[in-house]
Amino acid sequence: MSRLVIIGGSDAGISAALRAKEIEPKIDITVIVADKFPNYSICGLPFYISSEVPDWKKLAHRTVEDIEKQDIRLLLEHRTQTIDPKSKIVSVKDNKGKIFSLKYDKLIIATGAVSARPQITGLDLPGVFLLRWMEDGFLLKSYLDEKKPERAIIIGGGYIGMEMADAFKLRGIDATVIEYFDTLLTTMDPEIGKRVEETLARHGVKAVTKTAVNSIEEKGNCLRVFGSNGFQAEAEVILVASGVRPNVDLALSAGVSLGDFGAIKVNRKMETNIADIYATGDCVETWHRLLQKYVYMPLGSTAHKQGRAAGQNAAGGNAEFQGSLGTQAVKIFDVVAARTGLRDVEANTAGFDPLTIEYEDWDHKVYYPGARRLILRLTGDKRTGRLLGLQMIGPYGAEISKRVDIIAAAISSGMQVNEIGALDLTYTPPLSSPWDPLQSVCQAWMKYFPQKGKFPKVDS
Ligand SMILES: Cc1cc2nc3c(=O)[nH]c(=O)nc-3n(C[C@H](O)[C@H](O)[C@H](O)COP(=O)(O)OP(=O)(O)OC[C@H]3O[C@@H](n4cnc5c(N)ncnc54)[C@H](O)[C@@H]3O)c2cc1C
Repeated sequence: MSRLVIIGGSDAGISAALRAKEIEPKIDITVIVADKFPNYSICGLPFYISSEVPDWKKLAHRTVEDIEKQDIRLLLEHRTQTIDPKSKIVSVKDNKGKIFSLKYDKLIIATGAVSARPQITGLDLPGVFLLRWMEDGFLLKSYLDEKKPERAIIIGGGYIGMEMADAFKLRGIDATVIEYFDTLLTTMDPEIGKRVEETLARHGVKAVTKTAVNSIEEKGNCLRVFGSNGFQAEAEVILVASGVRPNVDLALSAGVSLGDFGAIKVNRKMETNIADIYATGDCVETWHRLLQKYVYMPLGSTAHKQGRAAGQNAAGGNAEFQGSLGTQAVKIFDVVAARTGLRDVEANTAGFDPLTIEYEDWDHKVYYPGARRLILRLTGDKRTGRLLGLQMIGPYGAEISKRVDIIAAAISSGMQVNEIGALDLTYTPPLSSPWDPLQSVCQAWMKYFPQKGKFPKVDS
């Protein structure tokens, strides 16, 4: 019987295991997991910390029993120490310190990412937290429950920082977000970032942009943060949410090659440079569908798909990861911001000739109660009319992420901006208009090309 060993039991590792079993039910699968929380949705941690999801056990995509019922062996609280690709053996340390060896025929590395630790002195002080693992979530939540801080500082204005600003406020804690760049949520245009800042302000969260935090010091019962341009602020709890880096030390020591972004280099079958070793999830570089090259884009949605491809191939199948568009959504208080594809600046760098327009519309017919304003920023290519990207922001409940998903699907199939108008989308006054806002923004974009009306069709 073929032996598949998977290192890592989160989104990518468990997706790989489940798919491998579907493809080859007789395969012998062992998943080695450093912690005791296999297949937990760490994406849900902000909602557990806020207490919107009071029971952490509910964050499990699947329980241990669900996974084991699939005839998948889980070695929880076991850490892989080395990989020997020549003899096809991994050495594993259990939670009592005992070291043993496991033979594999195929190996999948799914070790994920770790929180970035920026160059800030004082990161190890009590009251300063990172947020990546379930344990990080437990530590932060019990600190909040026990110490009942009144003020929080979040270092990093990305999507985790936004979700945590919301979480702190829900707990009655005053929050300040400090961001190095000019605006928040820098994976979206500054025009969206500014609106996010306004949303935070409306909910009493202060955002300080263009500020680099240099150090954190203890001052009596609280922590004082020092930043560029003489910035200083105090809080009882600090969350550092300044991104992640791929967890590749183990792979590297086994001779697995890394790509330009420091994550594991894989092909679209999720194979590494070493025979019979695959890698998947936040530890690998990701094929970008529009850019047609590898980028580092660690997301749970992507980790699941890459894991599935790796699992299928390791079990003898033939799958290719189709690529990512960086499709992403975040809920910030009563607002949702979402994006897919390329923004103007990204499209320009990639050699497209982009035009981005901003457009406002209602989510449904205004005469039906509760219509809400949406902001759409659409990017298309002026030379070919190809749809390149969409960013949206508007009220929670206005189907923003699903509208962005429609554009993600359209980009994936190589559609042009003018083709969106022809899509047969649903219409009923409480939910949309005869022309959905997506179609109206595309028509508005096409007004810049009255003589073209239609662009020559391009290959996707
Ligand atoms: C707060 C938060 C919110 C998020 N929200 C979203 C969201 O809304 N949408 C989205 O798409 N993504 C989101 N993400 C990102 C998403 O969680 C990750 O992209 C996803 O978890 C990646 O899965 P992975 O399996 O590749 O790696 P990880 O989840 O990092 O898991 C790595 C696994 O490897 C194990 N491991 C590591 N080293 C070893 C070793 N030596 N031996 C054995 N086991 C080892 C770990 O125990 C773990 O099981 C969020 C992340 C966080 C932290």
